[in-house]
Amino acid sequence: MSDAEMTQTHDVVIIGSGPAGLTAAVYAARANLEPIVIEGMVEGGPTGGQLTLTTEVENYPGFPEGIMGPQLIMDMRAQAERFGTRFVTEDVVKADLETKPVRLETASGKEIFANSLIIATGAKPRRLEVPGEDELWGGGVSACATCDGFFFKDKHVVVVGGGDSAMEEATFLTKFASKVSVVHRRSELRASKIMQERAFKNDKIEFIWNATISEIKGDNGQVTSVVLEDTESGDTRDFAAEGVFLAIGHIPNTWLFEGQLDLDDEGYLLVDEPTTRTNVPGVFACGDVMDHIYRQAVTAAGTGCMAAIDAERYLAEHTDAAPDMPRG
Ligand code: NAP
Repeated sequence: MSDAEMTQTHDVVIIGSGPAGLTAAVYAARANLEPIVIEGMVEGGPTGGQLTLTTEVENYPGFPEGIMGPQLIMDMRAQAERFGTRFVTEDVVKADLETKPVRLETASGKEIFANSLIIATGAKPRRLEVPGEDELWGGGVSACATCDGFFFKDKHVVVVGGGDSAMEEATFLTKFASKVSVVHRRSELRASKIMQERAFKNDKIEFIWNATISEIKGDNGQVTSVVLEDTESGDTRDFAAEGVFLAIGHIPNTWLFEGQLDLDDEGYLLVDEPTTRTNVPGVFACGDVMDHIYRQAVTAAGTGCMAAIDAERYLAEHTDAAPDMPRG
């Protein structure tokens, strides 16, 4: 897309290129709204969100043999492109939502104007930030038991965290793993009582209290052990495990919108349920940036579809959204 085309006002601009953003693009493009997706950039290419970090996706309907996460994203992108979506492979560094049209600025300083904006910037799993974590990510370190649990049949895995996610992940992992050790930094869980009780009752789950992981060790790119550090005494010990599942919360990618959009206590974008409308008219949110409960590719795609339909209806009701601006 030329710079001149880019600086025109577009009816629909979508930030984010995971399943939520790309599904919103497919729907908006098929409604002849000629959407622009600002897809973000990592290592010189499009980001594609968390699915590009997973291996095989076996729970996305329509793929009885499963599909690799990066392939699923590439296919969604191609589908959106087929109907006329245009992509800007850059990060957004500034968003002015008070203006009409909304004004976005990219990392290279380009301005993009939008009559309606769909935010699909996702969330990232909180990391431990300890040695070995980055190097062994995908080699036994994961933040998604639903995605990767199957690969740990008869293996011993560690789950880090004491919230509902940790209990859910630990319980789910017992379907595959021979043993699941939950490592929690305190002696009391944060998880709801019902989730705690389910985990306590499960013979395959053991709890290691007052401990954190200070290092993840591996061999040939696969996890072999973790270093446990006692939070009270500071003592450390090597603990053999073949998998490490992080369940220490997610960080929604909302920093661009702080002070402009309503966020919940955990920093997720608030929408006017059951729609995808935010508190700013013409601005919609979908996917993991507004969902801390389900966080699945298929639910992200579902809310992406909803956001495109909400944007289309908004534009139909506000055809004079930006009367003086050229339409892209
Ligand atoms: P969470 O409730 O924020 O729990 C995060 C856990 O990780 C806490 O136990 C915390 O320890 C621990 N933690 C945080 N940073 C850590 C670090 N750097 N090192 C070690 N441990 C660390 O997150 P969540 O479990 O993902 O839940 C998020 C929300 O989703 C909650 O509202 C939850 O109820 C909801 N949820 C619901 C369900 C369900 O109902 N089925 C399932 C999953 C999630 P501390 O306790 O010491 O702070």
